Amino acid sequence: MSNFPQRVFSGVQSTGNLHLGNYLGAIVKFVELQQTHECLYCVVDLHAITVPQDPVALRDNTREIAAAFIACGVDPEKHVVFNQSQVAEHAELAWVFNCVARIGWLNRMTQFKDKAGKDRENASMGLLDYPVLMAADILLYRATHVPVGDDQKQHLELARDIAQKFNNDFSASIERLGLDYLARDAEQIATAKAETGFGAAFFPLPEPLIAGPATRVMSLRDGSKKMSKSDASDYSRINLSDDADQIAQKVRKAKTDPEPLPSEEKGLEGRAEADNLVGIYAALAGRNKADVLAEFGGANFSTFKNALVDVAVARLAPITAEMRRLKADQSYIDAVLRDGAGRARAIATENMNAVKDIVGFLR
Ligand code: ATP
Ligand code: MG
Repeated sequence: MSNFPQRVFSGVQSTGNLHLGNYLGAIVKFVELQQTHECLYCVVDLHAITVPQDPVALRDNTREIAAAFIACGVDPEKHVVFNQSQVAEHAELAWVFNCVARIGWLNRMTQFKDKAGKDRENASMGLLDYPVLMAADILLYRATHVPVGDDQKQHLELARDIAQKFNNDFSASIERLGLDYLARDAEQIATAKAETGFGAAFFPLPEPLIAGPATRVMSLRDGSKKMSKSDASDYSRINLSDDADQIAQKVRKAKTDPEPLPSEEKGLEGRAEADNLVGIYAALAGRNKADVLAEFGGANFSTFKNALVDVAVARLAPITAEMRRLKADQSYIDAVLRDGAGRARAIATENMNAVKDIVGFLR
């Protein structure tokens, strides 16, 4: 897929409780990729309403996530920061993709099963359709790379399947129009044909970048569940808005086992909670687990937890303070999102027009 210019897209839902998992699994990587790629970072409010949201809180949370992106180091001038609902093409492309994706593909999605729980019949249609909208988010910008946490792997595979099927289903139409839309020189067309085997593909097959310092941070209450915004217990996660006292309280209450820490990584096997805390420490301190265990092996959890609180507060306190400062300046955040949406829309309109031509919509 080398014929597609590299572009990064990723999103975070505008639900409250932005947490350490979001930060270490996704946002740290967002910041890093700015050095090498053109990036679009989106507050995905259309995704948020797949479960009930209070309208006032939703607006507030949208601003909070945007403030967090910037506080963590995303540059909204060099790159694009916006909220999804301001660019109507996300929903428009999702409809086209609804007609490309198969019901069977969606029925296999484990996140839907987890989130819908036992009462699946009563879940919103949007919750089932979530991954199709996510494919539209990425492919609307023909993004090639998507930094996400480990839990999004299956959804990225679905996005690739949708891109591939669209390219296949409409290959004749794409080839007819491809000269206009994809490749502006003959060499690019030849490469595209050689690589895809069915003429010039319109959509790239986006690659997940699951490579943050901790791609799967687990709940502080249950080492078998990922840390999550939607977990009912606030003690399950460290929020980016937590102050030093709250962080200390949550870490001290975090579930552990009675054994002291092992001195080697192998000793963490079968000890999910211990493994998680060591992983968090390592990610926050910019060290690896083996190195952390070499220091803390044999220590009991109360000692280790004190050290973990120190490293967490040192790393997060400046971000929390900056997030608060930015969020208080509502007009600044709103202006960032409006400006970002304008720049995103320019790309989205061009690609959506191409999709309309490919599919056969008159315009
Ligand atoms: P929800 O539980 O409501 O889905 P969430 O915590 O999963 O919320 P999202 O907004 O869905 O948050 O995800 C934003 C990004 O954070 C995604 O890239 C996702 O993969 C990543 N992420 C979410 N949870 C974790 C985690 N526990 N560890 C690492 N990355 C995570
Ligand atoms: Mg999620």
